[in-house]
Amino acid sequence: MSFAQRHLLGIEPLSQSDITTILDLADIYAEKERSDAKSSDALRGLTQINMFFENSTRTQASFEIAGKRLGADVMNMAMQTSSVKKGETLIDTALTLNAMHPDLLVVRHPHSGAVDLLAQKVNCAVLNAGDGKHEHPTQALLDALTIRRAKGRLHRLNIAICGDIAHSRVARSNIHLLGKMENRVKLVGPPTLIPSGAADWGVEVYDDMREGLKDSDVVMMLRLQRERMDGGFIPSEREYYHRYGLDAEKLALAKPDAIVMHPGPMNRGVEIDGTIADDINRSVIQEQVEMGVAVRMAAMDLLARNLRAARKPQGVMV
Ligand code: ASP
Repeated sequence: MSFAQRHLLGIEPLSQSDITTILDLADIYAEKERSDAKSSDALRGLTQINMFFENSTRTQASFEIAGKRLGADVMNMAMQTSSVKKGETLIDTALTLNAMHPDLLVVRHPHSGAVDLLAQKVNCAVLNAGDGKHEHPTQALLDALTIRRAKGRLHRLNIAICGDIAHSRVARSNIHLLGKMENRVKLVGPPTLIPSGAADWGVEVYDDMREGLKDSDVVMMLRLQRERMDGGFIPSEREYYHRYGLDAEKLALAKPDAIVMHPGPMNRGVEIDGTIADDINRSVIQEQVEMGVAVRMAAMDLLARNLRAARKPQGVMV
């Protein structure tokens, strides 16, 4: 196994082999998750602190379950009631927690780059659970595992990422990962929601969804992230659904066995038709959630191995 990372801050710094190592281990955990023997002791004796400065349902629950199944002592910091509300800076909060000797810090923050900054100040492994519109590495890894299990491979696939690309850390992490694994990546959305310069990212850009979906193996839908918008980016939700909402008619342009993905939370009737989201023959949205636990177990297990190796006293040469 080759995974020489101290933190998991994004997909950008990872190599193809780092990604494959995480996914291979996650595959083993995914099988274990489906059995009665869910627990192991890979993180026994280690302390994991989850610090979520932004709302989360899936990611926080999944990191907590992953840590507990691996035997860690898991603590969820209630950021809403912490001293952050009294004006303490992110760094001071991190230094305070660092003094309690955690081994793994899982951090979500509304500002891009905040998690990288924090990682420079602490001496434990840091996992980015989403920072602003920058990266959400475990989401891209769980998406990759879901795709690999559904399609039998993770290269040379035709993948459409659709919707609010501009405000999406999920899109950014997926673009890095799917590009590194040599897939054809297409971004589909209104020009107001496609970042300027996207055409230089090694992807194709489409504002006509019907064109963009043609021959796709994977259709990944994204939510309109209004919390990160400072103005009107779409004329109306009705108009948006008409042009960019995934319905049966548009999905028919993708390959007949194309899978439909969504990171959640989903807005039915805005970016996706509810019946497609629930169609077990096309939608892998529940598998994504399932793979989320396995991927987070794998990532924390690998980081903990590196942490333990780095802490081991070095032998004295005589
Ligand atoms: N849950 C994902 C995120 O945290 C996607 C979203 O919020 O729409 O970025």
